[in-house]
Amino acid sequence: LVSFILYQSDLANNIRTLIYIFGDMLNSVGAAGKVFEYLDREPEVSTKGTLQPETLTGHIRFHNLSFSYPTRQERKVLQDISLELKPGTLTALVGPSGGGKSTCVSLLERFYQPQEGEILLDGQPLQSYQHHYLHRKVAMVGQEPVLFSGSIKDNIAYGLKDCSLEQIHEAARRANAHSFISQLEKGYETDVGERGNQLSGGEKQRIAIARALIREPQVLILDEVTSALDAESELKVQEALNSCRPQTLLVIAHRLKTIERAHQIIVIDEGRVLEQGTHKELMDRKGSYYKLRERLFTEEDTPQ
Ligand code: ADP
Ligand code: MG
Repeated sequence: LVSFILYQSDLANNIRTLIYIFGDMLNSVGAAGKVFEYLDREPEVSTKGTLQPETLTGHIRFHNLSFSYPTRQERKVLQDISLELKPGTLTALVGPSGGGKSTCVSLLERFYQPQEGEILLDGQPLQSYQHHYLHRKVAMVGQEPVLFSGSIKDNIAYGLKDCSLEQIHEAARRANAHSFISQLEKGYETDVGERGNQLSGGEKQRIAIARALIREPQVLILDEVTSALDAESELKVQEALNSCRPQTLLVIAHRLKTIERAHQIIVIDEGRVLEQGTHKELMDRKGSYYKLRERLFTEEDTPQ
């Protein structure tokens, strides 16, 4: 059953986002709690790690990593992936749908354990870090902004003990959400449940980003966050991202602009790294990135 749920990959992504953001809280909320209990057992990853270094640069290395989902062990979804995410840089992971991008994210979140190879964080295997420590340091924002009923303030502070109003405002400022929140009649006390429909997709997204930023993650992963946003909202999200540096940013993106400004672009298809380099390098090569771009261009030019 769990495998089946996981296989519905959009749903799984959303659930993962939920788990990621709400953490242990889900245990106490009825049916969703049950899902969490199941999923909590699913990732057969060891949570015995103890490392909690005071400083972490957020340097990530995938080293000859191969992976199959437990449900389809005969099929390698990732094959011998090696890549490096340097602190202070933005990496764009691009490629056709189903190529393995979100799977890379799941492994980075330690949702699964790769069968071959490993992921190193600051030179240490991911699994040697303490579980909650890792989840504070490596934050993910998914495609669907997940807000729950309660105030905007609570949505941002979610799951954090001892966090001041000033910290909440600061996170919102960095996520470019402070000014629109301040303009609401009830400001940070605005109930997201009541006002949910009046918040635009971009505004909800920025609240979700503030929630990630307040944890001060060293590594921030955005999985197709902007694909559902209009151009103006996307620009705001971009500005939010600008405020994150120096941190390791991994963005799974469709939009050309996001991709072009990356320090490094990695093209993944059928579980393999096809190409990596800067926009210019890859354009000059006229290989898979060049071709993918032509397709994206056509899609972006096509009115919905
Ligand atoms: P992308 O994010 O690049 O679109 P994914 O990483 O989501 O690609 O998927 C890579 C491949 O793994 C796809 O063939 C997909 O069907 C498969 N897949 C994704 N999630 C699961 C899962 N939980 N169980 C089994 N197969 C999965
Ligand atoms: Mg994906």
